[in-house]
Amino acid sequence: MERIELLIKYAILNVKSDTKLAKQYIIRARNICMKYRIKIPYEITIFFCKKCKCFIAPCIDSKIRIGGSQIKSVRITCNLCGHIYHKIIVPK
Ligand SMILES: [Zn+2]
Repeated sequence: MERIELLIKYAILNVKSDTKLAKQYIIRARNICMKYRIKIPYEITIFFCKKCKCFIAPCIDSKIRIGGSQIKSVRITCNLCGHIYHKIIVPK
């Protein structure tokens, strides 16, 4: 679990400077999750397009818009396949 968290942290840190490296970190983290049958953390799932299953770097391969008046949500557009999906932000 600790290793996964570290990988996510490094991926986020590197996503702007080195997208390829960030991609490797995320894929590695996902593989660890699958190997040990751990539920994939939310931080990882948001990096993948739901349609083409590709890694999308936030603000680089995807457009993120905050929308919704009553329901707070973010709209993520995948630049690779054009798929738009919504993430509803659950208030804490
Ligand atoms: Zn896509």
